[in-house]
Amino acid sequence: MNQISDYVVGVDLGATNIVSLLISRDARVIARDTRKTMGEEGKERTISQIVTSARSVIGEGEKAGISSKSILGMGIGGPGPLNSDGGMIHLAPNIPGWIDTYLVKELEDELKLNVFLENDANAAALGEWWLGAGRDVDNLVLLTLGTGVGGGIIIDGEVLHGARNTAGEIGHTIIHEGGLLCSCGNRGCLEAYASARAVVKRTLSAIYRGEETLLTDLVKNKLEDITCKLVYDTARKGDSLCKRVVEEIGRYLGIGIANIVNIINPEMIILGGGMANAGNLIFEPIRKYAREHSFTAAMEGVKIVPAALGVNAGAIGAVAYVLKKKGLLKTINNFDPNLLNTFKA
Ligand SMILES: [Zn+2]
Repeated sequence: MNQISDYVVGVDLGATNIVSLLISRDARVIARDTRKTMGEEGKERTISQIVTSARSVIGEGEKAGISSKSILGMGIGGPGPLNSDGGMIHLAPNIPGWIDTYLVKELEDELKLNVFLENDANAAALGEWWLGAGRDVDNLVLLTLGTGVGGGIIIDGEVLHGARNTAGEIGHTIIHEGGLLCSCGNRGCLEAYASARAVVKRTLSAIYRGEETLLTDLVKNKLEDITCKLVYDTARKGDSLCKRVVEEIGRYLGIGIANIVNIINPEMIILGGGMANAGNLIFEPIRKYAREHSFTAAMEGVKIVPAALGVNAGAIGAVAYVLKKKGLLKTINNFDPNLLNTFKA
C-alpha cells in the first residue's frame, strides 16, 4: 500500500485529561498518550504535561520508524476564550494563574514544531466532521454534554469562528429568561438546564422535596454520591423520578437544538460527552422536542446522532485543523473509530 509519510501531532487540553495522538495525513493513528492535566498545580505544570504527552507520541512514532522530521506540525485544542491566530489562551477556568498565555510560542520553543491552536469544542466538531459521525456531511453542530455544554459549528466544511472568535457558545444561549443561574453568571442558559451538573441538581432538589427514588438506597443515603451517570442508569431501571429528570433534560436540549436548527439549518446535530452514551433514553425526548419547536422545513432530514470518536474527537480535530491550515486535508472514507480502542484508555 502506498503510505503518505507526513504526520501530525494532535492534542486535546481538557480540564482533567490531556489526550495526544500521532496521526498520518491519511488518518492512520500511530500513537496515543493520555495523562492528567494537573491544572490545580498551575500553568507551568500543565504546559510541561502537554510537552511530555506530545514527546511521548513522537517517541512512539520514532520506535515505529517515523522520523520527527516527517512531522508536519502540532495542533492543540484548548479552553476558550482564546485567540487562535495569536496563539494565546486568555483564560483557562480550571487552571489557576492561566491568564493571557502565549501557549503556541511556549510549545513551539519546547518542541521545535509548528503549533496551531483552536478552541477545544471547535476542534472536537472538526474531528467528528473529518473522521467521525459527521464525515458524510458539511453542515453540522456538535454539542458536548459534560460538566458544561460546549458547542462547535461547521458550515460548508469550515468552523464558524465569528468576528471575535467566540462563535458556537450554544451552552449559553438563553432558553428561559430569568431562569437558573449559569456558571457564566447569566441566567437561563441551556447549560444551566442540560449539563451533567444540572442533572444532578435537578434530581437532588426533587429528593429534597420528598420524592421517592431508588437513588437514596443506591447511594445509601449519601446524596453527595449521586452522579449524572447514576441518574441515567437508574432511569433505565424504570425509576420514575430519574426517568422524569432525563425527559426534562431532553426537553431543554430539544428546545436548544430547535433554536440551532432554525438559525443554521444543519444536516446533522452530533451529541458528545458522557450524557450522549445514555442512548434512546435521552435521544428520544431530544428528537421529539427539537421537532416540536423548530420549523418543519429546517428540521426535515436533520439527523440527531451520538458522537463517534469519544474522548479522541478533540485531538483528531486538532490534527484536522493543522492539515486544513496547510491545505492538505483530504476526505477519508475508511476510518474505523474502533481502532482507537486498541490504544490504552
Ligand atoms: Zn451561561
